[in-house]
Amino acid sequence: MNDAVFACRACDSPEAATLLDMGRLPLANAFVSSQAATEDRLTHDLTLVMCQSCRLIQLRTNVPREQLFSSYVWVTGTSATAKTYAQWFAQRLKQRYGRARGAPFLVEVASNDGFFLQHYREQGFEILGVDPSNLAQEADARGLPSIRDFFGTAVAGRICAQRGRADVIVARNVLGHSSELQDLVKGVKQLLAPQGVFIVEGPYAYFLRADVQYDTIFHEHVSYLTIYSLSKLLERYGMKITEVAFSPMNGGSMLCEIRHAEHSAPRDDHGFIEFEQLIGLNQPEGWQRFANAVKAQRAAFTRILRDCAASGKLVAGYGAAAKCMTMLNYCQVGEDLIPVIGDSNPRKQGLLCPGVRIPVVSPEVLMGRNPEYVMIGAWNFKEEIMRFFREKLAYKHRFIVPLPEPMIVE
Ligand SMILES: [Zn+2]
Repeated sequence: MNDAVFACRACDSPEAATLLDMGRLPLANAFVSSQAATEDRLTHDLTLVMCQSCRLIQLRTNVPREQLFSSYVWVTGTSATAKTYAQWFAQRLKQRYGRARGAPFLVEVASNDGFFLQHYREQGFEILGVDPSNLAQEADARGLPSIRDFFGTAVAGRICAQRGRADVIVARNVLGHSSELQDLVKGVKQLLAPQGVFIVEGPYAYFLRADVQYDTIFHEHVSYLTIYSLSKLLERYGMKITEVAFSPMNGGSMLCEIRHAEHSAPRDDHGFIEFEQLIGLNQPEGWQRFANAVKAQRAAFTRILRDCAASGKLVAGYGAAAKCMTMLNYCQVGEDLIPVIGDSNPRKQGLLCPGVRIPVVSPEVLMGRNPEYVMIGAWNFKEEIMRFFREKLAYKHRFIVPLPEPMIVE
């Protein structure tokens, strides 16, 4: 891997402007099992840049994808909010693209543990998932047909040959995670039936900038879409955006309906592209304030934690999500400031956070430490987490919400 060589993931251009340099960080999912482990000692450049040509916001450096996704411990369906959302999402697909007779063929790219696949099937779709991690095999074994691989032209070709073309292709939170973005989009173009629909959901860079969500920047998350940059990419491969909507997921996501360029449905992204132009979302200068706000957040957040430590108050973290790992490592917050992090995912309990090496424990063990503050790592689920602590764990003290601006909640 050569840090110096850059090629835009969407258009191959070698020119990019730096938006935010976060230094070298360990991989956000490189949880380790003991202090003697070394996997998380390997750090990688984490610099956000914007392609000078197609304006795609992305990381300057690629970490080989096999290193990133082969044993992914993150599982989609661990929160109540996620469950409600999956139901809503699957019902919406049925209302729009379901049929009175015969099951439409739906392929989900990056189907994770099959959590959404199950909901699509309940709504009458014939399903197939594709995911590069071990979770694909687990889903398949549970009766949710899944292929373990990276989705691209090779897999699309195989599915076309064996099952025919897809009526619906869903890609939730995956375009931004793909280092082979062009091959993925080419694969969709190839697999999608002429009247078919490609649904893309993913974090919208507008919210990254507006809410200083720099914790969503990590090595697995290689690009950060705007309507303009997505539209440019699709145009290159003979597709177009026919509807733009938004969802509350991951701190604000865009939800686009995409069809073949030849389809009769009109393009529907001009208004959004004009809006992005107006607010400088696709201009490097438009990101200066964001870079300053990130540095200010780090200063304010670490000040709160140091004050707590100085006055002998115990701060426990909650939610060992990848995004939290970015923030803790960027802010260099270790065990001295946050001695434990609780997480409801049993796959993470007993492990140490990458880089900062804070132990991950169950919510019950966390409560056993009797913390006086709980720092909410998954702050986008803060309402649900606070309710969980108050109602289920009888927690009586305060919370620290780290973003967009660090604050203490009574
Ligand atoms: Zn580009």
